[in-house]
Order: sequence, then structure tokens, then C-alpha cells
Amino acid sequence: MTTDELRQNLLSSPKNGYTKLSDEQRADMEAYCKRYASFIDACKTEREATAWAVTTAKQHGFRALTAGMDLKPGDKVYYNNRGKSILLAVIGSESLAKGANICAAHVDSPRMDVKPNPLYEDSEIAYLKTHYYGGIKKYQWTAIPLAIHGVICRADGTAVTVTIGEDDSDPVLYVSDLLIHLSADQMKKTLAEGIAGEQLNVILGTEPLDGEGSDLVKLNIMKLLNEKYGIVEDDLHSAELTIVPAGKCREVGLDRSLLGAYGHDDRVCAYAQIEPLLSMDTPKHTAVCILADKEEIGSVGVSGMQSQVFEYFMGILCDTQNVSRHECFANSFCLSADVSNAYDPNFPEVSDRRNNSLLNYGVAILKYTGARGKSGASDASAEAMHHVRSTLDKAGVQWQLATLGKVDQGGGGTVAAYMANRNIVTVDAGVPVLSMHAPIELVSKLDCYMTMLACKAIYLA
Ligand code: MN
Ligand code: MN
Repeated sequence: MTTDELRQNLLSSPKNGYTKLSDEQRADMEAYCKRYASFIDACKTEREATAWAVTTAKQHGFRALTAGMDLKPGDKVYYNNRGKSILLAVIGSESLAKGANICAAHVDSPRMDVKPNPLYEDSEIAYLKTHYYGGIKKYQWTAIPLAIHGVICRADGTAVTVTIGEDDSDPVLYVSDLLIHLSADQMKKTLAEGIAGEQLNVILGTEPLDGEGSDLVKLNIMKLLNEKYGIVEDDLHSAELTIVPAGKCREVGLDRSLLGAYGHDDRVCAYAQIEPLLSMDTPKHTAVCILADKEEIGSVGVSGMQSQVFEYFMGILCDTQNVSRHECFANSFCLSADVSNAYDPNFPEVSDRRNNSLLNYGVAILKYTGARGKSGASDASAEAMHHVRSTLDKAGVQWQLATLGKVDQGGGGTVAAYMANRNIVTVDAGVPVLSMHAPIELVSKLDCYMTMLACKAIYLA
């Protein structure tokens, strides 16, 4: 054989996905990305994503799962976990004893949560105190338009949904940064110290009410909130309000090949795994889609992936077939669908170029995540990696390998370890992202599309 033939036969040769994209796939990709963009515009919080999923699932024939219900192959069910996370399933033709094919993503994203006692006035400016949620570079969240999303539970128990800053006619909110002219001291600080957590105070307004006494600006804001939402300040003590970047998903680049938006991590994988499930015919193995909450703070709490809600959901499904849930888990497979870091030529020093995902090379598969000596990783086996590789190849899905940065450079985690703890074989995979956890993150359309095809292939494996 010539060296050319040997090279072709023996060496791997990753290629930019556009070199292999058919015209038909390209049109399909563009249409998919439009649907994804409208999803992400409508769903900036886990609550909004869960509500969207419930409504959309019902439209596609999904029913709320209840203990003891009769289920047959092809039936579609969902479980709304307190409005904060959701689990969906399409019952397969095989028994659940043969296992389920699971895709797990999260629908919470880094942001600034409003503190329990948030409202105050200083120097005749009304503010909200915040506490950042997840890993953020605090300086990135100043001097940009912000919106407020959430829920307030009033004294009588009724809840009111709040969204301000997304409609073109809405006002937006704002966290100030220091003017460069007086930043001599600030500019000497590290990026981590330049803006402190207690400086992430959101400006709500500046106009005082006409009258006597203190806090007339704050009082005016409370009056506006009372008129619009029927709330008083005490109601803010039973509220879940979050501050997120205002605005919609936009195409980025003159060639429109990228999407810029808040919270691609991890709604880009959440959408990739729910869309193919919605219109799925009876799969061989039961297909399960998890949209989890609290991943960004360790998958904790009743709506996080460490919660027993997954056992509850799968237990009900298994009971309908008199199958042991343990048996089901032992034979299941989970794709932990979460984003990876796309290689950034502006910061080559943090990545091993040979093992980092690249924009437009398809869905990134990660054998492990974690930090230092793989600490905290679920480190998939050779057999698990083969299952994913062969399943995606058979389905014609473009994929690439990835690790999260150079060894000892940092690291990260996903829900993979928590799924694996359940005796479920799990592999990480997802969309490569530039500027992960920044107010606006970037992904490539091609990678979004391939991740959706990957989730579909895993469900049907
Ligand atoms: Mn994530
Ligand atoms: Mn994240």
C-alpha cells in the first residue's frame, strides 16, 4: 500500500462538518435552529423551560404520569417536578427490564438570583440585592441590559409570574460598573475581584414619589409593582426572581453560522433531546428525557439530578410492567447531554488542541470531565464509548472527541456522575460553546443540529 492509502486506512482524519453536510441536511439544520432559537427565547429559566415542555408535550399526546396508570408501548408520559424540572418518556416495545435509553440535560443557567430581602434605596436610587447563581465572571454582568424573570407567591398563596425586560416596549434593568476615569484602583484588581458579589445590585429606578419622609424612590417602585402584580414588599420574601440578560437569540457572523444567546448551557442540549422525543414512534427501548434543575450549583435540591425524583418517575414506569427498577437501571444507558468548551484560538493556552472540541465538528463526546486527576468525573468505559461511537456512526451523526481543557487547567462536572451512581452506564456528550457562562454564549448551528441527531440516535439504539 502507498503511504496515502495507509494514511487513509490507518489514521483518523477529523474534518469540518460543513465538508460533509448535504444540502438537505443544511436546510434541515437551519429549520431546526430556528425552532431552537424560539425555544430559548421563550425559556430563560428552568421554570419557563418546564412550563414550555409541559404545554408542548401535551400537544404531542403526552399525559401526566400517575401511579398505577396503565401504559402500553408507544404511550407518552411526563412528570412535572414542581414546575422546576421535568421527566418525559415514550414507552418502548421491549420490557423496561431490558433498560431505558435516557438523555439528561439541565435547564438552569448561571444568572443573578434576587435575594430574599432585596429591595432598598441608596442615594435616591432604588436597587435589588442579588446573589449570583452558578459560576459567573461577575464583571461580565455589569453595564448590559438585564431582564427579571420569576414567580412571587403572595400572602394569600396565589402566585404571580413576572417577566420584565424582554418585550421591546419593556424597560430593562442594569448593574453599573465604574467609569474608566476613576478606575485606577479597580483596574489593578484581578478579574475575580474587580466586581464583588455585593456590588451586583440591580438598578430599579430613580424617581421619587411626591411626599415627605425617606425612601420615596423605593416607595415609588413598590407602588408600581403593586399596581402591576398586586404585591407588597413582604411578598418578595416568598419569591423566586432571577436576573438574566435581556434580549433574544441572534445569528452571529456574516455567514450566520453561529447562534449567540443567554443560556445555551444547557438548553441547547435540553432542546436537542426533547424535540426528537416529542414526535417519536414506539421505540424499542423506553426513551426517557430529563430536563433537570440545579446542575449549575451541584445538582442538589429536590429538582436537581441527585434528587430521588428520578427513582420516583422510573419506579412508577417499572411498576406498570412489574419490573424491578434496579433491573431497569442496570440495563439502561444515559447520555449526559451537556455543553463542552469549544476551542478558542484567543486562549490556546488552556486547551490540549488534540483533545478539545472544535466549532462545526459535530456533537462533542467526552469520556470524562472532572478536575485534576479526573476527580468528580464519571469516566466512561471503552465499551460505553463504543456504544456511543457505533450508534452515532450508524445514524450518520457527525461527532468529535473532547476533554474540558488542559490537564490541571481547571475542569467541570455534569449530571453524568449522578446518573452513573444509579448503576446506569453514562457518557457525556454535548454542544461545544464559546464563552461558556458569559451573558451571551456562542454555539455553531451545525453542532446544535448534530447534537439533536445524536440524542435521537441514542433513544433509538
Ligand atoms: Mn451545563
Ligand atoms: Mn454550566
